[in-house]
Amino acid sequence: MQLNPIRKIVIVGGGTAGWMTAAPLALQLGGPCEIVLVESPDIGTIGVGEATLPTIRYYNDLLQLDHADFIRKTQATFKLGIEFKDWGHIGNRFFHGFGDFGPPINGRPAHHYWLRLARSVARMPDLENWSMASRMARENKFMMPTDAQPRITDAFTFGYQFDAGLYAAYLRDYAMARGAKRVEGTITGVDQHPETGFVTALRLADGRTIDGDLFIDCSGFRGLLIEGTLKAGYEDWSEHLPCNSALAVPCARVEPLTPYTRSTAKGSGWIWRIPLQHRTGNGHVYSNAFTTDDQARQDLLDGLDGKALDEPRQLRFVTGRRKKSWVKNVVAIGLSGGFVEPLESTSIGLIETAIAKLVELWPDRDCRPELAAEFNRVMSSRYESIRDFIILHYKLTKRDDTEFWRHCANMTIPDSLAHQIELFRATGRVTILDRDSFAEPSFVAMLVGLGVVPERYDPFADGIDLRQLHGHFASLRDLIAQAAARMPDHGAYLDRNAKAPKPA
Ligand SMILES: Cc1cc2nc3c(=O)[nH]c(=O)nc-3n(C[C@H](O)[C@H](O)[C@H](O)COP(=O)(O)OP(=O)(O)OC[C@H]3O[C@@H](n4cnc5c(N)ncnc54)[C@H](O)[C@@H]3O)c2cc1C
Repeated sequence: MQLNPIRKIVIVGGGTAGWMTAAPLALQLGGPCEIVLVESPDIGTIGVGEATLPTIRYYNDLLQLDHADFIRKTQATFKLGIEFKDWGHIGNRFFHGFGDFGPPINGRPAHHYWLRLARSVARMPDLENWSMASRMARENKFMMPTDAQPRITDAFTFGYQFDAGLYAAYLRDYAMARGAKRVEGTITGVDQHPETGFVTALRLADGRTIDGDLFIDCSGFRGLLIEGTLKAGYEDWSEHLPCNSALAVPCARVEPLTPYTRSTAKGSGWIWRIPLQHRTGNGHVYSNAFTTDDQARQDLLDGLDGKALDEPRQLRFVTGRRKKSWVKNVVAIGLSGGFVEPLESTSIGLIETAIAKLVELWPDRDCRPELAAEFNRVMSSRYESIRDFIILHYKLTKRDDTEFWRHCANMTIPDSLAHQIELFRATGRVTILDRDSFAEPSFVAMLVGLGVVPERYDPFADGIDLRQLHGHFASLRDLIAQAAARMPDHGAYLDRNAKAPKPA
């Protein structure tokens, strides 16, 4: 029996995290529970965060968003994965597609059989031939997978690339239509209960106060409540992830409209390219210990494939996570909870995780510390598994053309990741440390793409006649190629199903 239910939730911040949090809470709790979101007219949102993981679809489905309406209003495109250029070594090009490399064979992952096949021929066949998502991406094709009667050619998934500002605005309208209230004001003070230390009210610059039972800190990097008031502490991971700066700039859309994000490694970091319907988002993530801001800006502008639409915007960050994301009656969601650089577009996914976990562990007004401990356990595990996956991209480089890449090749890495890499190198096995994070095909795509060739494969893979195995892989490759060839062009598919209006 609920004796002490939360009656008022206050969300601090109106960026992607704030409105992503407000929308499902308004849907599920609106009515008896008041939801107030405070955002400052003077402190802007970060304004980046445009590529997502496939899990965004579960979030959108929970809100029962109209798929085409959402795409049109956020200028979205489909994302089948990430193309990596010049990662591992200059000239390297591979794809981390969303999906597997064919169905398991005799219950064992297909890549072991591919490894056996690869040993029997003079030249390693490209593993991407067996990834539906990668094949479609290469050819700029897109079509929805059919859930009703799944076939091998439907064995892919997708996320979206969208305009961050439009997505937050879309969710703001959604949340406010369901009763969430928006307060514009800058928070300058925080009141706490003298005995418990719980946050009781926020004081705004204009003298207003906003009280509440549960406070959700979506105030971005500053972590206004979680750090500013409650001093949760921050675990700095710069030792393993040296990038600390970014420059972001939009440019004019060019054809074809690619259904994927591109990441191109540079001398001291990497450049993202995110195609949207109305423009292309670009950014350079780098370490200012290894290059200058001016040089990074020049590298970014030199690589644009369309006319720059604005001046590059500078951002700084410290990779890491809050030691505790939930303290007393404050829960940090979004950048206030931590940040791992955007190489695999994981931040919005972490926001989804935090919201889902908070709803699952929904507290009473007394916010039992056991609930906070469970939330913090799950979030730590998710952040750490993402951290390790991102470090892998840098650590496995064979590049030695710059000081930055030599540093990455030689840096220490967490034991958890060292174990994952060595296991794969020795046996082709992938161990997954957090089942709800990146799955086996993602590790295989990155490890193989970065040039790790396992010494062995699963002995079970020897249980099939080699000629039969050749036949199996050849027909699967042809099936995937033919299916991709039949699909519509990504841009044409969007034009037909969810063409966004030209911005005014
Ligand atoms: C370079 C870069 C690239 C990124 N790319 C991706 C990507 O491709 N995919 C992805 O998933 N994520 C990406 N991210 C992360 C993503 O941008 C964020 O996770 C997301 O935008 C959420 O930000 P936020 O809402 O937590 O913070 P913000 O957008 O910073 O919002 C903070 C809010 O708090 C309010 N606020 C702050 N202080 C006060 C105050 N005193 N009073 C009142 N209000 C206040 C502000 O007004 C604002 O509304 C990227 C991040 C960076 C740095």
